[in-house]
Amino acid sequence: MKLSEKPKWQELPLAASIVEPATSLEYKTGDWKTLKPVVDTTKCIRCATCYIFCPEAAYEENEEGYFLPNYDYCKGCGICAVECPAMCIQMVEEEAE
Ligand code: SF4
Ligand code: SF4
Repeated sequence: MKLSEKPKWQELPLAASIVEPATSLEYKTGDWKTLKPVVDTTKCIRCATCYIFCPEAAYEENEEGYFLPNYDYCKGCGICAVECPAMCIQMVEEEAE
């Protein structure tokens, strides 16, 4: 299809465009990632560095005080794995579904 034949952004389906304020939780931006962080809680020192550095605010603290990524919003940038002082975050390939 030629570029000139493709739809303009105004003609895209509603789900592909943000049309109202305060809807970010409804957009599962984690669908974009190809890698995902996996936390080894046996090595985690619960310092919250991953929580602080994640640009997507994807980390959530569980009842035991461990910080785990919410894959619905994690974009797989790998910043958390680089910043973790305990080196307990591994970036692994996202499995195709
Ligand atoms: S940065 Fe690493 S050690 Fe600190 S809370 Fe996150 S996973 Fe645990
Ligand atoms: S990979 Fe990036 S977006 Fe995902 S949890 Fe880590 S810092 Fe956040």
